Amino acid sequence: MGKDKETVSGTLYIAATPIGNLEDITLRCLRILKEVDLIAAEDTRHTRKLLTHFNISTPLISYYREKEVQRSTQLVERLVEGESIALVSDAGTPGISDPGAVLVARARGAGINVVPLPGASALTTALSVSGLTHPHFLFLGFAPSKKSQRRSLLTSLKNSPWPLVFYESPRRIQNLLSDILKILGDRQGFWARELTKAFEDLKSYKVSTLLELTTSKKSRGEFVLIIEPDKDKEVCAEGKNLQELLLWYRDNTDMTLKDVSRKLADDLGLSRSSVYQQALDIYQRK
Ligand code: SAM
Repeated sequence: MGKDKETVSGTLYIAATPIGNLEDITLRCLRILKEVDLIAAEDTRHTRKLLTHFNISTPLISYYREKEVQRSTQLVERLVEGESIALVSDAGTPGISDPGAVLVARARGAGINVVPLPGASALTTALSVSGLTHPHFLFLGFAPSKKSQRRSLLTSLKNSPWPLVFYESPRRIQNLLSDILKILGDRQGFWARELTKAFEDLKSYKVSTLLELTTSKKSRGEFVLIIEPDKDKEVCAEGKNLQELLLWYRDNTDMTLKDVSRKLADDLGLSRSSVYQQALDIYQRK
C-alpha cells in the first residue's frame, strides 16, 4: 500500500503520464491529478485531452521550456502558500528530456516536499525490450540538431564502452543515423518507435540497415535509438585484466599476437614489450 492516502498541501508531485497508450497511467497518478489544486503542464491542450479522458477537472497552468524560470517562481510561491501542484509533460516522465528540473530544484531549495509519481518513460520502456545484456548504458537524450555540434558529440563518444541511448524525432533520425555511421562505424543498433502505440516498431539491425529503412520510406513516429559499443571497447570495460584480455583476443579474434599486443598496449597505456612478453606466454599455452 502506498504511503500517501491523500494529497498533502504544499507538495509538488512529479507525475509520469503515458507515452502513447492511455492505460499506462498509474492509479496513484490518476488519484493525485484529481486531488491537487493545480496541474502544471508542458502543453495544456495536450494534457486537457488526457484529463478529459479520465474525467478530471483540475485547473491547468502552462509550464514549458521557454517559461521555466518565470513559471517556477510563481509555482513555488503557490506551493509555499500551501497549494498542491502536479507537474506533467506531454508524455512520459517530466524532467527527462522535458521541462521540470528548474521547478524541482527551486521547490526543493525552498524546502517544498517534492514527490515523484513514477510511470512511463520512453527510455526505460525501450531498454526493457532491447535485449541488451550490458549492465550499464549512457543516456544522451536528444543529440544536438546542429550538424557540427552533433558530430563533435558523437566524436567524443567514439571510445565509450557503454551502449548509447538517444531520443530522436522522425524529422532528424536520418541525420543522426548517417552521422553515427560515419563517426562511430557500422555498429549494432536497435530502435524502438511508436512505443505502446498501434504501430509499435522494434528493430535490431546494423546502423547501415536502419539508415536504409529511414531512406526507403518516410519515418513516422518518435524514436528511441540504442547503439551498441565497439566490441573491443566493451571487452576492456568489463574490468578484465591484461591476462584475461589476452586470452579473450586469442580465443575470439583472428588477430596476430603482434597486433593484439600493440593494440592492448596502446589502449591500456602499457609498454609494448611487456605486453608482448605476456602475450607470448598466453599464446604458447594454447
Ligand atoms: N519525458 C519523456 C520520457 O520520459 O520518455 C521524453 C520526452 S522527449 C521530449 C520526447 C522523446 O521521447 C521523443 O522524441 C522520442 O525520442 C521519445 N519518445 C516519447 N514517446 C515515445 C514513444 N511512444 N515511442 C518511442 N519514443 C518515444
